Amino acid sequence: MTWLKNPLNTVHRKQKDGFGHAVDLAPYPIDWNDLSRFDRMAALMMRAAAAEGVRITWGADWDGDGKPREKGESDSPHFQLAR
Ligand SMILES: [Zn+2]
Repeated sequence: MTWLKNPLNTVHRKQKDGFGHAVDLAPYPIDWNDLSRFDRMAALMMRAAAAEGVRITWGADWDGDGKPREKGESDSPHFQLAR
């Protein structure tokens, strides 16, 4: 199942370096309507990425300004390597 407009155009797929560059995560137990839990998970992901020296982007805050969903972003489970 996919909700992407073009499921072949995603960095989840294997890239030139042989790896996917995205993951989709959800806090367990999953409640798709409780976005505050996704926000907390994203904060933890950003902290972990910083600790590892990796730049990542979150699907609910594409510009990374710390304001989730301000432009209608709706991919709260999605994290990918920054480009
Ligand atoms: Zn994704």
